[in-house]
Amino acid sequence: MTPSTDRNQQLFDRARKTIPGGVNSPVRAFRAVGGTPRFVQRAQGAYFWDANGKRHIDYIGSWGPMILGHGHPAVVEAVQKAVLEGFSFGAPTEREVELAEEILDLVPSMEMVRLVSSGTEAAMSAIRLARGATGRSKLIKFEGCYHGHADALLVKAGSGLATFGNPTSAGVPPEVVQHTLVLEYNNEAQLEEAFELHGPDIACLMIEPIAGNMNFVRASVPFMQRCRELCTRHGALLAFDEVMTGFRVALGGAQSVYARALPGFRPDITVLGKVIGGGMPLAAFGGSRAVMEQLAPLGPVYQAGTLSGNPVATACGLATLREIRKPGFFEALSAQTCSLVDGLKTAALSAGVPFSADCEGGMFGFFLLAALPQNYPAVMKSDGSRFNTLFHGLLDRGIYIAPALYEAGFVSSAHSDADIAETVSAARDVFRLL
Ligand SMILES: *Cc1c(COP(=O)(O)O)cnc(C)c1O
Repeated sequence: MTPSTDRNQQLFDRARKTIPGGVNSPVRAFRAVGGTPRFVQRAQGAYFWDANGKRHIDYIGSWGPMILGHGHPAVVEAVQKAVLEGFSFGAPTEREVELAEEILDLVPSMEMVRLVSSGTEAAMSAIRLARGATGRSKLIKFEGCYHGHADALLVKAGSGLATFGNPTSAGVPPEVVQHTLVLEYNNEAQLEEAFELHGPDIACLMIEPIAGNMNFVRASVPFMQRCRELCTRHGALLAFDEVMTGFRVALGGAQSVYARALPGFRPDITVLGKVIGGGMPLAAFGGSRAVMEQLAPLGPVYQAGTLSGNPVATACGLATLREIRKPGFFEALSAQTCSLVDGLKTAALSAGVPFSADCEGGMFGFFLLAALPQNYPAVMKSDGSRFNTLFHGLLDRGIYIAPALYEAGFVSSAHSDADIAETVSAARDVFRLL
């Protein structure tokens, strides 16, 4: 396509004049893979059409929220009805209560929940709550896990366990991350050492139980068990960031997946986002009644939001949750995701490409590595230039996966057998080029 007819390129050139990098969230700019971002014109079901009118099978789905595919009729109807009743009131509504009840019903570890507008806000508030409830300052997070862009979480490991982290962004003063300890994912020895050294000062351990921000890496069951035991023993709160995995890997989130192996397993705090808004800005955090009652107006931990519990967003989220809790929904979604992953594995094997992949519910990840990595340094051993060839090969064939090798992929209930077959067939062609 020549520059004069490529509408994506024209829009990108225009966008860069007014918006930094031409995008409102950095990964959209295709910096890691090169080339021109696709500007989306409209979407329906498993597809979106870009500014050139080209159709793509969408495996990002807004980075997770679109679990029903785009434009699901029941969700569209609920949103249309809500819009007619008013956009925002800054006063409580019945729908917020309904959504809160729905969430608590699906996630038994949560006895109370507060609604906010983004995953960043939810994780940030959860940490303030954990600190307020325990009267402690220190946090544990893991390298490769993302919890939004609150200052205290934009941090990488320091030089040793006795020292705390260094900021990963300009504009974050070192003092702001001095209480954040960054550990290697799935490393039990490091975890024990950290609690040994800092146990009485640790307010909370925050983890992505299945990490989707380093592609797809599961916390092993023994590692998770250790996290739970050490938090309990030292009086720290175990905070599950399920912004990505909540209502995505299973109806009860990743915590229900761990509870299968560890009966009675529960985190103390859960952070939710993405699927609970069904594509509208909505997120939440919750936990036990005793902890949640520390929040204003009941308790001393301040937290607030002009658009929190927005009536249109809650309508969208409620309609989405009511669809995914229908009998058989997750069984069918999981089967579809597995068939994609199995198809990709077979295609890679026959092309002789080193490949490993994993999935749970409607979330998947794959690596151009012979074995699944267990932590961030291992993920980063993936071959970036081969991934870029794969990414652009698929994109040319109308298959849209994340434009970076450290991001998970998402299948929706709108992805048909034919969509999966088309994807696997495109991958078979592209693997031969690697
Ligand atoms: C997306 C994400 C966030 C941040 O959510 P936003 O709505 O983008 O602020 C936090 N944690 C995890 C695990 C996420 O995947």
